[in-house]
Amino acid sequence: MARAHNFYAGPAVLPEPALQAGVEALRDYKGIGMSVIEISHRSKEFTEIIETTEADIRELMNIPDNYHVLFMTGGASTQFALIPMTFLKRKADYVDTGAWSAKAIKEAVRFGEVHLAGSGKEGGYTRIPDSLDLSPDADYVHVTSNNTIYGTQWSEFPDTGDVPLVCDMSSDILCREIDVTKFALIYAGAQKNMGPAGVTVVILRDDLLQRVPAELPTMFKYTTYAEKKSLFNTPPVFPIFMVGQVAKWLKDIGGVKEIERRNREKAAMLYDVLDRYDIYRPHAHPSSRSLMNVTWRMTDEKLEAELLAAAAERRMYGLKGHRSVGGLRASIYNACPVESVKALCDLLVEFAESH
Ligand SMILES: *Cc1c(COP(=O)(O)O)cnc(C)c1O
Repeated sequence: MARAHNFYAGPAVLPEPALQAGVEALRDYKGIGMSVIEISHRSKEFTEIIETTEADIRELMNIPDNYHVLFMTGGASTQFALIPMTFLKRKADYVDTGAWSAKAIKEAVRFGEVHLAGSGKEGGYTRIPDSLDLSPDADYVHVTSNNTIYGTQWSEFPDTGDVPLVCDMSSDILCREIDVTKFALIYAGAQKNMGPAGVTVVILRDDLLQRVPAELPTMFKYTTYAEKKSLFNTPPVFPIFMVGQVAKWLKDIGGVKEIERRNREKAAMLYDVLDRYDIYRPHAHPSSRSLMNVTWRMTDEKLEAELLAAAAERRMYGLKGHRSVGGLRASIYNACPVESVKALCDLLVEFAESH
């Protein structure tokens, strides 16, 4: 059966070749007579999987040698706590651009002073703050690159000088070319743009390891993951395998440069239709619009359910907006085919013209 049009915010659509490889590896990994989830994480087969996955992420993102790529668990939500537990000695700057940033702040205040360097709250999180009030003596600055729920995204990251920049890239990692050297730490739960739920990718600059307190429990220390190459304990083997397959797919289609081109094309098509008809009210200010999560309300809210039903009839799923924003949201991550976005645009045009 043909695939549905999948607009879920996360877990989300994955590339078909990666899914196919996953199915085969689950049954029998490379003809060894065992599934990829039945073999030791210290076997030569899994060693090759984790090493290739790391190498491909490094290549795709152009990650310099003085950065570690770690495979952790507990989702981005665990990083919300681990980051301040490790690096917040006195004061950290946080930028509040939506629900996920707010959750990160909620964990940070347990460990030290949080200075709000910027907030989009008053404007209903429709835009990324134009200017920030950064503290020169902060332990780090924390930003959320893409706000999955509100549909806003940083187009340019702040220059924080010598203060380490920490970024939650859960919902837009690998969606566009970025300069990794601007960041001290990048983290992302895999389930939006790079694989299934169950693994969190952390990209960490080496000098930050010196700040890790010795007294932290072993599994809460970034040094453990860096020294043991994410193999101190059993890592989430299947999610890592799938992240490797998604990275392979990305390389095969032309890397981050090509996916960025496709992402910009998809997003432009959708925003163009939403801007053209008065019955749609895009949530994000044009200067802050996300390439990944496109959010809008209907001028007549009663039409929301009708539009969702019309979408379901065409096998388009996952379009209901997050409960805190309402309206609709189309998550058009890397693996969302342009055909799905075209199909959605056609529906939106027909729906607007008949209402
Ligand atoms: C989904 C999401 C999270 C939460 O990720 P978990 O892996 O479920 O903990 C955090 N930040 C952002 C930006 C997200 O989109």
